[in-house]
Amino acid sequence: MELRLAGLTFEPFIAAADIAARVDTIARKLSADYKGTVPVLIGVLNGSFLFFADIVKQLDIPCEITFTKLASYHGGTQSTMKIREDIELNAAIQGRDVLVIEDIVDTGNTAHYLLEKLRLKQPASLKMCSLLLKPAALLKPVEELKYVGFEIGNEFVVGYGLDYQELGRNLKDIYKKVG
Ligand code: 5GP
Repeated sequence: MELRLAGLTFEPFIAAADIAARVDTIARKLSADYKGTVPVLIGVLNGSFLFFADIVKQLDIPCEITFTKLASYHGGTQSTMKIREDIELNAAIQGRDVLVIEDIVDTGNTAHYLLEKLRLKQPASLKMCSLLLKPAALLKPVEELKYVGFEIGNEFVVGYGLDYQELGRNLKDIYKKVG
């Protein structure tokens, strides 16, 4: 069923059941890959809040969690390339295994900005997990991006944490913009 948010129309794209199945697979892989370590998981707010929560609930390893808040779209449907840091990361990560959990990697600009900052703090390892990736929009490869939920085209999506003008984050399914 179509959906209207702040004047735009969206149609169903990725169903909640498919998201849950993918989350399950990724959480199993993370549990295996980080076995024997206590990673620090960094959630990038706001968009990753549901994905982050669903992933961490399914991990069967001990982990620490913390958050940072970055914004690049500022309410539109195109990446602005300007990043605003609303909540600064203050966790001590030197010598720790760090996993960044993102909602979506589009141009990769936000990922590069954050990973560069984290690298300077000298973690033992640094990887990224993103629910969605738009390969055709990526400006340069993100080496640390080792876990991806779904690769999608250059469509604008909302739901399961992702917004359009702050609306739609609470939707269980992911929708894409029509037209
Ligand atoms: P990038 O810096 O990779 O271009 O963009 C990353 C950020 O842009 C994401 O964290 C997200 O906030 C926003 N973004 C990119 N693509 C989409 C999209 O299709 N839908 C929504 N709602 N946000 C997006």
